[in-house]
Formats: sequence, C-alpha cells, structure tokens
Amino acid sequence: MINTFPSYYQKFKCMADKCPDTCCAGWEVVVDPESLERYKALKGVYADKINRLITVDEDGDCIFISKEKRCPFLLESGLCEMHIKLGEESLCRTCRQFPRHKTYFGARVETGISLSCPEAARIITESPDPITFESEEIHAEILPTAIDPSNYFTLLEARKTAINILQSRDFSIEKRIIAFLEFSQAVQTCLRKKEFEKAHKINGNDFLNAACREHSQKRAERALGRYFSDFKSLEMLDTAWLSELEKAENAQIQSCTEYEWEFEHMMIYFVFRYFMTAVFDGDLLTKSKLAAVSFIIIRRLQAENVSDKQTRIRAMQKYSKEVEHSAQNMEYLRTAMKKSRFYSVENIVNVLSLKEE
Ligand code: SF4
Repeated sequence: MINTFPSYYQKFKCMADKCPDTCCAGWEVVVDPESLERYKALKGVYADKINRLITVDEDGDCIFISKEKRCPFLLESGLCEMHIKLGEESLCRTCRQFPRHKTYFGARVETGISLSCPEAARIITESPDPITFESEEIHAEILPTAIDPSNYFTLLEARKTAINILQSRDFSIEKRIIAFLEFSQAVQTCLRKKEFEKAHKINGNDFLNAACREHSQKRAERALGRYFSDFKSLEMLDTAWLSELEKAENAQIQSCTEYEWEFEHMMIYFVFRYFMTAVFDGDLLTKSKLAAVSFIIIRRLQAENVSDKQTRIRAMQKYSKEVEHSAQNMEYLRTAMKKSRFYSVENIVNVLSLKEE
C-alpha cells in the first residue's frame, strides 16, 4: 500500500502534560470494538475500573463516561492514567491515533495530523516554506473499495492544480482562494457530466489571471451575516466559543500579507484532508466552499490580536476543534453550503473580496 503524508507529519509528538488544550477534555472518547474486547479480557482491579467506566451513548457507541467533560482517565497532571498503568498499546484506537487522520482509497492511504491539536497546528504553521508531500510503501491490508478510477485520477490531478493555485505567492491569499474556488467549480461541472478529459485540461492559471469580478458590498455583508449566524447555531464544546464568534463577527479584518503563508498552509491542510474524499460522494465543490468559508471565519477570529502568532494559531486550532471535529456541525454546514444561496461561489467570492481596514 502507498502511504502519502505532508512532510511535516513526522515532526509530530504529543505534548502530553505540557499540552495547553488536551484532547482528553471536551470530547467523548468512542471505544472501538477491538479495544472493547481487549478491555473485557483484562483481569484485575484496574480492569474493573476500565470496564465500569464504559457506557453506551444515544448513538449506540461505546464511550468512556466523562467527568465534567474530561476523560475519566485524565489525571490532574494532564497525563493519561491508562497509559501510565498499562502502556500506550492499551489505549483505544481514538486515543492511539489522535491527532493523526487516515483516509483509505483502495491501495492508497493518506495520512495527516489534525489542526485541532495545538501541537499539530503549531507544526503546520511553523515554517513559511511551501508544504510538500511524501509517499512510502507500507504493509497493510488492502480493503476492497468501489472507487471509480476515472473519478479518482481526475481528482488527484485536480488536487495538484488546486495546491499549485494556493501556493502561487505572486497573488494575494484572497485571490488564490477565489481562483481555487472557481477552479473547483469548473472541475465539479466536469465530474458531474463525467467529462474527465475536459477536467484534465482545465488550466489553474486561467483562474489566477482572470480579472476580478465586480462585487456587491451589500450582498457580501448579508452573506457574511448568514455565515456567522450559522456558525453561532452549531453545537459547541466550549461555551466561550460563542462570544469569540460574536467578537469575530464585528471584527475589522486587517492586512495579512506578512503571514499569509500560514493561511496558505491551512488551506493546503483542508485540501489534503478533504478534496479527494469527493471520490466517495461526488461533491467536490462543497469541500472547497468549506475550506474558503473556514478562511473567512478564522481570519476574523484572529482579528483581535492579529500580530500575535499564538492568537493566530489558536484561532485555527479552536475553529478546527469546535467545527471540524463535530460530525453534527460538519453535516449542518455541508447541507447549508449545498442548499443555501448565501454559500453560492459568487457570494463566497463577494465576501472574500471585502476590503480590509
Ligand atoms: S491535543 Fe495534541 S498535544 Fe495535546 S494531548 Fe492531545 S494529541 Fe497531545
């Protein structure tokens, strides 16, 4: 099997008790069936404790019973009690893997680290050098999939072009995101009509070099208002997130020229993580819209103290934790982006064209 990963991937090491925002707080930890079997087979006092702390939630998933929104094994020191007592191999799949994510495409797998982990967010935005990717052969079972090869290879080529567009530093980050969105729309049309040859011929530079369209300030402001109202209605892990969104809604965005490479890396993160998953549902455009709207929201979340790198990284990490890691939130946003005219490419481009202070 071929494993592809961003070159920063191997730098990741969990900060454990030094982490400013442990992943063991706030989230429900789902125990996978394999780990459940292992826990049931354990013997001794500690085995009793583990099995006593497992319950079934309303979705039918086995989870650890959290205490004040903290994993019951999370010690005051920030360390994991199960890890200390039984070693890393005793952890359930969620805990062993996080923040690593994997997506399988037949004989290929793509691996990354999630922006929702503070250490991963720091690594992703550490260096201004353009993000590159590496591939290696690994031994893993290849599971049968129903992926259409024409779709897959068209998307693979399109993703390379999308990454080139987003890394074209002769253009502002807003212009690059607009070009990326319009390019995705063109590819989506070809995918829908099964015009794979035509999709391969779409030139990313045409979108970068296209003249900026006239935009309507009023429509942009209306659309932006709708985005914030949608984000404020999402399920929240931390109640403070609502007031952060309220502040961001009224924030005046400022120039981000000096650090726009951080946004470039963030956009590449979203593209690497989601673009190819269009092979499963045929919906590329919604994934690209979600990345563009994430930029719009995160930029405003950073506005309060934009010159401070910690503030900028925290805004990305917090956004990812609150939005990207809730299946319910992602489903809500995907539906809104598919159905609501406020999320048309034209309206998102309008918002991206709003001028900074
Ligand atoms: S959020 Fe990241 S750094 Fe922090 S404890 Fe979890 S995996 Fe480790």
